[in-house]
Amino acid sequence: MQTLKLNGHHMPILGLGTWKSAPGEVYTAVKEAIKIGYRHIDCAAIYGNEKEVGKALKECFDEGVVTREELWITSKLWNNMHGEKNVIPALEKTLSDLQLDFLDLYLIHWPVAQKKLFVGASKAPHFLSLEEQPIAGTWKGMEQAVELGLTKCIGVSNFSIKKLKDLVANSSIKPVLNQVELHPYFQQDELVDYCRSNNIHVMAYSPLGSSDRPEGLKAKDEPVLLEDKAINELAKNIKATVAQTIIAWDIHRGISVIPKSVNPGRLKQNFEAADVQLSESDMETIKQVNKNRRYVDGQFWVVPDGPYTIENLWDE
Ligand code: NAP
Repeated sequence: MQTLKLNGHHMPILGLGTWKSAPGEVYTAVKEAIKIGYRHIDCAAIYGNEKEVGKALKECFDEGVVTREELWITSKLWNNMHGEKNVIPALEKTLSDLQLDFLDLYLIHWPVAQKKLFVGASKAPHFLSLEEQPIAGTWKGMEQAVELGLTKCIGVSNFSIKKLKDLVANSSIKPVLNQVELHPYFQQDELVDYCRSNNIHVMAYSPLGSSDRPEGLKAKDEPVLLEDKAINELAKNIKATVAQTIIAWDIHRGISVIPKSVNPGRLKQNFEAADVQLSESDMETIKQVNKNRRYVDGQFWVVPDGPYTIENLWDE
């Protein structure tokens, strides 16, 4: 498996996503994935399943299937724990749930701050603006996490180029990675180019179009990525599945990718995408299907009289 170098640490380019993997399902999925050969798991406190992921990891260590050092584990700071003083307690809770002493990568999940009392936020008084709770303060807590040895690397998620520039200018430890929505319908060329020229890796979330998102997070007229005609034709030609073709496209671009599955057959299929080769003409075919279309559009952070708008979230 190809790896990417983050601060001298090797991260397998392909990992397993765990959002929406229900407790119960996620335990089996993580154990199965590690058995198949996955060495990179993407977690987050807000997914509500880190305890089950931790149980699976501990059993894999105890059974001698894999060692801690062979795994890459990412987790994320939730919005209600922004602020310098909140980061370490939030990370310690995640480490305790995952039954780990350290993470490989800890990310600020969203450039969105909520008051500590509100894990879920649906009204203006639940939120804090980034003027009230600046990212620079939260980042100080992230830097302390590295200094304390609680995580090897730190990064962000859902950050625009503008927010990355601000952070890079105001940090001692630079963010090593930005995890963002990225797939053939939302290729993010400008962000990828900026990150490449600033030593920031990109990790693609919702790479397969996240079709198991709750209905409330879906648009009515949404195009279904896995049904794309051109990608289906290409997949047939190269004797791969559509999901494999898309995952291989990310890897070919040097972009880390974390498809979620709880199905043993699809876990295996997705893992084997690392062996699928694409030609430059195949890459061009996929380039042409771009629609600049987000599935996870951030609309849920936009509430009447609240501090967040689609414009100030994505800086577009
Ligand atoms: P995704 O990986 O694009 O899609 C998951 C859906 O695809 C599930 O319904 C899954 O079903 C299905 N699937 C998986 N493999 C398949 C295959 N080979 N063929 C057909 N269908 C397949 O969506 P995602 O979960 O949104 O994104 C992946 C990960 O990125 C998340 O789990 C999470 O770790 C991370 N993420 C991060 C953020 C963030 O804000 N930082 C946001 C979204 C996601 P089965 O499980 O039944 O196989």
